[in-house]
Amino acid sequence: MSKTISILGSTGSIGRQTLDVVDDMNLTVAAITANSSVELMEQQVRRYRPRLAVMTNEAAARDLAVRVADTGTTVLGGFDALEEAATAPEADTVVTAVVGMVGLKPTLAAIEAKKRIALANKETLVCAGELVIDAADRCGAEIVPVDSEHSAIFQCVQGCADRGEIKRLILTCSGGPFYGMSRDEVAGKTRADALRHPNWTMGPKITVDSATLMNKGLEVIEAMRLYRLPLEQVDVVVHRQSIIHSLVEYHDCSMLAQLGTPDMRLPIRYAMTYPNRGVSLAEPLDLLKCPPLTFAEPDREVFSCLRLAEEAATEGGTACAILNGANEEAVGLFLADKIGFHDIARLVAEARARIPVVQNPTLDDILAADAAARRSVLGD
Ligand code: NDP
Ligand code: MG
Repeated sequence: MSKTISILGSTGSIGRQTLDVVDDMNLTVAAITANSSVELMEQQVRRYRPRLAVMTNEAAARDLAVRVADTGTTVLGGFDALEEAATAPEADTVVTAVVGMVGLKPTLAAIEAKKRIALANKETLVCAGELVIDAADRCGAEIVPVDSEHSAIFQCVQGCADRGEIKRLILTCSGGPFYGMSRDEVAGKTRADALRHPNWTMGPKITVDSATLMNKGLEVIEAMRLYRLPLEQVDVVVHRQSIIHSLVEYHDCSMLAQLGTPDMRLPIRYAMTYPNRGVSLAEPLDLLKCPPLTFAEPDREVFSCLRLAEEAATEGGTACAILNGANEEAVGLFLADKIGFHDIARLVAEARARIPVVQNPTLDDILAADAAARRSVLGD
C-alpha cells in the first residue's frame, strides 16, 4: 500500500481529489507540481508540507519560492523539474495527473525509478504506450490505471492469469453533452456548451474531449496499450448513466463489470491500496434508486474524433502521437473561442493526412511527430 506519494498536477481536478484521498488515508506527500496556479500551490505547500514543489512556469516558480520561503519546501521551476518530482526517493507512488503529453518524460522517469504509477495522464499512453509499457515491464514498475474505465477493467481482470481468456474489453461512454444531436445541431456548440458535462466534473481539456468523443478514442488507445490488445478487442458502448464504468467479456461468454457512483476518488484510492480495498469516500451505489441502465452504439459520423482515434490506433507507430498533439492544440484553440466544434476533428484529420507515420518509433520520433502535429494545427 502507498504511504508516501508525489502528485504531478496537484492543482487540477484529479490532483485535488488525490489530496482528498491523502487526507482520508493519512498519506505523506513528497512532491507536488503545477503549471501556474500559484495561490493554490501555496495553500497545498502549507497544508501538506512536501519536500519539493515544482512549477513548470518559471515566473510562477519564482513567485511561489518567495511566498513559501518560511516553510522548508524547496521550489523548483521548469519542465525538467517535473522529473525531480517524479523520482523523489522517499515516494513509493507517483500520481500522474498533469494534462497532456508533457506527462511523458516524467512518467518514464518515475518508471525507471521503479515507482508505482497511479496513471491518470492518458495522453502519455496514447503517444508512447508501447515505450511506457515496455519500460514498466523491464523495470518492474507497476502501472495502476486511475481513469475510471481502465480502473474498472483492471479490477475485472484481477484473478485472470491468462490474458488469452479475454475476448474483448468494453469501454462505457457517457456520450457527453451533445449525445443524440445531429452534425448540424452540434456545429454551433461553444466552449460553454461543451464544458457542461452531464456526469463528471473534470478539467477543461478532458471535458471538451468528452464532448467530441476524442476522450473515448484516447481511452480505446489507452486500453489497447495497457492490455496489449488489438483494436478488434476493444469496443465502445454509450451508457448515459455512467454507473457501469466498463466491462470485460471472456471467451466463456461471462461478462464482468465494475459499477459505482461516478466519483474519481474511488479509482484514485484503489490505485493506492491495490491489491487491497479500503473504505472509499465515494457515495455507495443504491441499486434500487438507480435509473434504468441503457446501452447504445456511439455515433462515429457526428463525433468523428472517435473514428479518427480508432484509425490512428490501427495504423500504430507515431499515428497516435500525431492525433494527440493535433488534438491538444485544436482543443486549446476551441477553449480560446478561436475555432468551432467540428474544426477540432477537421484539424486533427488534416494533421494526420499531412504528417508521415514512423513505425516502431523511438522517443525522439514520438516527440518529433507531436511537434509536427502541433505546427500543423497552429499553422507555423
Ligand atoms: P486539470 O486541467 O484539472 O489539471 C491539470 C493539472 O496539470 C494542473 O495541476 C495543471 O496546473 C497541470 N498542468 C497543466 N498544464 C501543464 C503543463 N503544460 N505543464 C505542467 N503541468 C501542467 O486536468 P484533470 O485533472 O482533469 O486531468 C488530468 C489528467 O487526468 C488528464 O490527462 C486527463 O485526461 C486525466 N483524467 C482526468 C479525469 C478527471 O475526472 N478529471 C478522469 C480520467 C482521466 P495548473 O493548475 O497550474 O494549470
Ligand atoms: Mg475516463
